[in-house]
Amino acid sequence: MNQKLFPLPFNERDLEPVISAETIALHHGKHLATYVNNLNNLLPGSEFEELPLEEIVAKATGGIFNNAGQILNHNLYFEQLQAPSHDNRPVGKLAQAIDEQFGSFETFKEKFTTAATTLFGSGWAWLASDADGNLHILQMPNADNPVTKGLKPLMTMDVWEHAYYVDYRNRRPDHIAAMWQVLNWEVINRRY
Ligand code: MN
Repeated sequence: MNQKLFPLPFNERDLEPVISAETIALHHGKHLATYVNNLNNLLPGSEFEELPLEEIVAKATGGIFNNAGQILNHNLYFEQLQAPSHDNRPVGKLAQAIDEQFGSFETFKEKFTTAATTLFGSGWAWLASDADGNLHILQMPNADNPVTKGLKPLMTMDVWEHAYYVDYRNRRPDHIAAMWQVLNWEVINRRY
């Protein structure tokens, strides 16, 4: 099945000043578009050709895994973002689960921030859930996604340098600290 470039649910400028229009244009229009083109070149004739993206990521290895993983990761990433708000907090049953398992949103935020800032090299920090609804914070390298561990991806922060270098240079912790303002918790709660 031919992969399409995920349409942004916001305008390129909408996330400023947390993420600049320039970063969005590069991140979505160049980086993600390249993964989509690569996968569309690799899939024809492979055993993965007709599978949904999540299944390709769960089963494939090598170049197909790397490009499919990066497409799935970025689709989930861009879908969960919206214009910044300073009093942004989780909503619904996910908000309740975060309070129950981590004690408070603030404690969860600290733990997730540590995972995102200490991940060595390129990768993704994830909030994911298991079949019993338990929440997990994961550090995953490169193109990896919670579906490879049988978990459901709920929220993610991209810590590849391309996600923040234009706006924050090498200051990954500053980027992560600002990202909490642009998470769309309605979207994230619906995934739970
Ligand atoms: Mn990225």
